[in-house]
Amino acid sequence: MSRPGRQPVVAAVMGTRPEIIKLAPVVHELTGRGARVRTLLTGQHYDRALAGDVVDAFGLTDVEPPAAPVGGLARADQVAAMITGLAASLRELRPDAVLVQGDTNSASAGAQAAHYLGLPVVHVEAGLRSHDRRMPEEVNRLVIGALADVHCAPTPESAANLLAAGADRAAVHVTGNPVVEATLASLQRPHRAAEVLRSVHLAGMLFVLATVHRPENTDDPVALAALLRALDLLPAPVLLPAHPRTTARIAAAGLTTPRSLRVVEPLDHATFLALAAQAQLVVSDSGGLQEEVTVLGRPMVVVRTSTERPESVSAGFCRLARPAGVPGAAAELLDPDHLAALAQRPSPYGDGSASRRIADLVLDLAARSGSPGARARQDPGLVAL
Ligand code: UDP
Repeated sequence: MSRPGRQPVVAAVMGTRPEIIKLAPVVHELTGRGARVRTLLTGQHYDRALAGDVVDAFGLTDVEPPAAPVGGLARADQVAAMITGLAASLRELRPDAVLVQGDTNSASAGAQAAHYLGLPVVHVEAGLRSHDRRMPEEVNRLVIGALADVHCAPTPESAANLLAAGADRAAVHVTGNPVVEATLASLQRPHRAAEVLRSVHLAGMLFVLATVHRPENTDDPVALAALLRALDLLPAPVLLPAHPRTTARIAAAGLTTPRSLRVVEPLDHATFLALAAQAQLVVSDSGGLQEEVTVLGRPMVVVRTSTERPESVSAGFCRLARPAGVPGAAAELLDPDHLAALAQRPSPYGDGSASRRIADLVLDLAARSGSPGARARQDPGLVAL
């Protein structure tokens, strides 16, 4: 509950497509309960299809554009520039809480900017760990985990990771992941799935839906060529809504896409999910998609060596594979008995109430932000060292 007579003010930091998709339900829940939520865009995703269009599709209105262009910068420069830009916005807004989501450079910059200004940080999708520090996202998770004041863990497993890392038990909450409600909401929206399938001559056919964008698969031309070959060996043609990074890497490596691969531009979330729900199989290195397939009840080959979402694997929805292992993993997942069981299995990421639980925690924090202790903490003069 917020203090009577005072509207809680929350900042939500978003830099990439998945952050917008998964924080939008929380923003709507908070505004529906009387809070003001200002979305601070960092500009990490600057392609219109991956940022502006998603902001519009998810109905976010109180939105501040990025302070400076940061797309394509080296990681240190990008995080530094984002901290500078976000700190300026947060100083002006003085929110009661700052929401960050997931494990991107934007989320790390948001947590750092807020913490250094003495503002409470709420981390949505907290406690995921791949235990693979070669992944930049793993280091971002560790940084955010060290700074967050409230950890919204999607599952008991992610909460256990935080406690094992020494997090304060009182600050760790198992909320579920708002990806569940984001998925259910997008499935209700109008979509262009039939039109997309017609445009690439896949109407009425079995098909595989694939996405790929992680550096481990795209930045090494040999790995990228191996992945394209593996996709060509699947039992059905592959629809690939290509991330701009992947399109650029395929061109730079001088690779040609096999004929069985139908490459299209990135799709809006509703269309993409409608296609994922219809696809025989999903093949991807995406993090968020490992969660979404559990809501859709579909199988997915995860083209990675490790995952921070083991719940999707242990529940049977996902299987990890290197490119050469993709056809074998696909065959195992496509076993008819296995498919029938998946269709009935609940998602390990919650019941669609995560946004409500997270909003409860944020509003509690806002209500407490009037206390003398909290005011001292929010005085930059007192926290500057
Ligand atoms: N997605 C989308 N359109 C597409 C491809 C993916 O809306 O053409 C969505 C997908 O459903 C998921 C999110 O984008 O919600 C995943 O984003 P991405 O793979 O870029 O990032 P990651 O999840 O790996 O952090």
